[in-house]
Amino acid sequence: MTQTLHYLNIDTRDPAEYLAALDQLRWTKLQKQIRYVWGNEDYFRPRFLEAGVTSPEDIRSLADFRRLPAFLDKARHRDSQDESLRRYGHPLGLHLTTQPANAIHLAATSGTTGTPTFYVFSRKDLDITYKVLGRMFKTAGIRPGDTTFHAFGLSLWLAGITYVQALEAYGARPVAVGAEGGVPKILRYIELTHPRALFATPSMVNQLIERAQGEIGKPVGALGIEIVYVCGEPGGSQPVFRQRVREHFGAQVFDSTGGAWHNGTITCDSPDAHGMHHMGEDYCFRYDLVDPETKAPLEIRDGAVGEAIHTGLEYEASPAFRNATGDILRLHVGECPGCGHFGVRMEIIGRADDMLMIKGVKVYPVALQKVVHQFQPRLSGELRIRLDGPPPKVTPPLQLAVEAGEGAPESEWPELGKALEQRVRELLSFRPSVTVLPFGSLPRSGAKTRLIEVVAP
Ligand SMILES: [Zn+2]
Repeated sequence: MTQTLHYLNIDTRDPAEYLAALDQLRWTKLQKQIRYVWGNEDYFRPRFLEAGVTSPEDIRSLADFRRLPAFLDKARHRDSQDESLRRYGHPLGLHLTTQPANAIHLAATSGTTGTPTFYVFSRKDLDITYKVLGRMFKTAGIRPGDTTFHAFGLSLWLAGITYVQALEAYGARPVAVGAEGGVPKILRYIELTHPRALFATPSMVNQLIERAQGEIGKPVGALGIEIVYVCGEPGGSQPVFRQRVREHFGAQVFDSTGGAWHNGTITCDSPDAHGMHHMGEDYCFRYDLVDPETKAPLEIRDGAVGEAIHTGLEYEASPAFRNATGDILRLHVGECPGCGHFGVRMEIIGRADDMLMIKGVKVYPVALQKVVHQFQPRLSGELRIRLDGPPPKVTPPLQLAVEAGEGAPESEWPELGKALEQRVRELLSFRPSVTVLPFGSLPRSGAKTRLIEVVAP
């Protein structure tokens, strides 16, 4: 069992005291950051003025700060980039808060749904990023001097070059073949370089398991990898995936998110994952929670659920400052039942734009997916929520289509459907109408498959 390091000097095991100490730390840093961001007249100053703030001194407490509306989101981030391209000839955004010459590193989202949005780093931003990622590497048991193998996509992705450089800064020699190298080359280079840790998406990890024997004549378990470090796709926290990695690689598995604006979270190696352990709370406020409908601030406490607003506490270049992430989080504050680490953990339970309302109950497709995954391997894990009109309002019962697991006898399907309906009722407070379909009948289109289908009644 891995003991996650405690990076904050907060000496308490009481959740309320812990959160109060964090608030104090945040407010100390935010007073400076508010003044810093206020200096940006192209983007942030107008947002303050719109919110009725006429001077940084108007914001007198963390509570005042938390009442500010969101200043940025994905769409406004893109618009800000387009406008800075027109006005200044660079795409770093009107919300760039430093000289363009200080913006020394770029990463970007994949751009599969339009223009990519850039993450911009100054020297200081990069150094802190390496520090936060270094805490995550340490939590995963990676040691300076280790060889690590980087098989994430390298091209501009946050987990690409940025992670390669962070691994170098940490002293853990990355072999950066990248996902672009392809499975055969990745397997050959792993054989050649003997890495202790493998960095790859869950779908790449699955491919390596399936193809190792054919490509290099031995199973992945013979490669000596002790740590499998995943991110970038849902699935890394699923018990079925984690069990598969343990069995095939004989390795510990860690799921993670991070790299953007000093955010960094990682699971422990416990089979049930127990959520993402925060590793950068002294540098960013990633779970400033608001009600997804009213946008009013919610109390931060164990069990709180809300939409996350992200603010870098000392970020220099194009910072997240009241950035609406769209993620719906559930927080856990206290001791992790998996590893004993005391702190804040989060689960991403949905997206604000995915929310469904069933008789006044808020339901997120990802939450439903988690319940379906509990039924693996009797169910395949694939699902579709079929609506007869646009979300969020759903006329009950919600129609849920799932697939039987490979080889699950058809005689058991009706009983399986009923058991799933009952489990959803217990966990999510509504009863869906479940249809069990034959294995393979729902189309697979990669990690970002939409779980909701709107079909004519
Ligand atoms: Zn843990």
